[in-house]
Amino acid sequence: MTIVTTSAASGALLLAQSIATAAYIVAALLFILALAGLSAQSSARRGIVYGIAGMTIALVATLILVLAQGALTGGATLGIVLLVGAVVIGGAIGLWRARVVEMTGMPELIALLHSFVGLAAVLVGWNGALYAEGIAPELVGIHHAEVFIGVFIGAVTFTGSIVAFLKLSARMSSRPLMLPGKNALNVGALVLFVALTVWYVITPELWLLIVVTLVALALGWHLVASIGGGDMPVVVSMLNSYSGWAAAAAGFLLNNDLLIVTGALVGSSGAYLSYIMCKAMNRSFLSVIAGGFGIEAPRADAEEEGEIHETDAAAVAELLRDASSVIITPGYGMAVAQAQYPVADLTKRLRERGVEVRFGIHPVAGRLPGHMNVLLAEAKVPYDIVLELDEINDDFASTDVVLVIGANDTVNPAAAEDPGSPIAGMPVLHVWEAKDVVVFKRSMASGYAGVQNPLFFRDNTQMLFGDAKQRVEDILRAL
Ligand code: NDP
Repeated sequence: MTIVTTSAASGALLLAQSIATAAYIVAALLFILALAGLSAQSSARRGIVYGIAGMTIALVATLILVLAQGALTGGATLGIVLLVGAVVIGGAIGLWRARVVEMTGMPELIALLHSFVGLAAVLVGWNGALYAEGIAPELVGIHHAEVFIGVFIGAVTFTGSIVAFLKLSARMSSRPLMLPGKNALNVGALVLFVALTVWYVITPELWLLIVVTLVALALGWHLVASIGGGDMPVVVSMLNSYSGWAAAAAGFLLNNDLLIVTGALVGSSGAYLSYIMCKAMNRSFLSVIAGGFGIEAPRADAEEEGEIHETDAAAVAELLRDASSVIITPGYGMAVAQAQYPVADLTKRLRERGVEVRFGIHPVAGRLPGHMNVLLAEAKVPYDIVLELDEINDDFASTDVVLVIGANDTVNPAAAEDPGSPIAGMPVLHVWEAKDVVVFKRSMASGYAGVQNPLFFRDNTQMLFGDAKQRVEDILRAL
């Protein structure tokens, strides 16, 4: 057995700290390159490789640091066992979930993962409060503030993400919770947090930390429960941002530069994504992050809006045979049915016949940003015929046939025409302007926002009921 002397061990620790600092800088740069890579489909794979490389370097550096610290304090084996045990268990669960999760279950998995980051930040904060040794006297106040802020952001992220998970997995209604005086409750919780922080910095008593933890848990729950179905995409990316800030707060407490940098990267990119999504959906960024501040309760919709025209696959095949231009607008139902492969075949067949086929993609179609683009890319639909809402919205009026495949909220004319609708003002694909519209869905059920869709009752709309994949295959056979 090798006996390590204290001076040799402290020398080794210094060396390990320098190696870790250098490795953390490299890892941080790789994370920035990963984000840059993920901004375009063509470079996304490279971005992921950078991310994996950065995370591997960070883990190895942390392992070296734990070893060197353990050699000095005599607890190396325990440290390594705990670290490797946590990495192996966490890695195995992560690998298993990532392999089995369906594309449609991705958003709720992401929401659940955000809740873990929030919980970790709360635990790190509590640990920092209970074991606050060796802090220079002039930094004690800052340390207390870090504890409080970390616990607050972490707890809001934790319960907020759990509610998002419950809503996205349909275990909880997607309708907004409308408590009386909900805005006052949110503002009151924030004011209380600021007051308690000042109090805790002056006199750090444990009960204050308990109170702020409970207030933040309740606030997180209330903020996300108050958001209606249509605004959930923004909430998911906002919770992503919160989880980044929670990690950064934990980084300050643990004195870990990489965690601070990584947390800030996630926090700011998530905030920017939320901002872009709010702009795309014509929502006020501030009102959404304030838990639907100023958003009125949606009124109950009339159930019936008129007669529908039902069609079948053979008739749709006939319609497509005579068409010279077709736009396909996919939505969440295409993901559920996994209809992207027959849709890609149909596109190919129609294009071979000389029909102009394009796709119109709404920014929040599906259940996560870019959901439809990923599915269509998977089925090898050429990128150049897949267009964004702004690029295609003016072309519907001059289009022969629109195939609405499993989309509902994103093609709802009420958003454009009914100021009283809960999704009023949200930009939608103007499919109803086309000569003929065929809607593929299984029933008359509403979409994620729970809003009735007048498109189904229009004269130029035909409903093709059934599973989207089977119906597209039927059309292919009929063609
Ligand atoms: P919607 O959720 O509005 O509607 C999906 C439609 O697909 C339903 O009407 C459903 O009708 C139909 N459908 C479901 N399964 C099948 C199937 N197997 N075959 C055929 N049809 C099927 O979808 P959109 O994509 O238009 O809108 C997305 C909604 O989700 C928006 O409200 C958005 O705000 C929200 N959202 C988006 C997120 C994002 O980041 N993109 C994240 C969270 C929420 P039926 O049951 O009758 O078949």
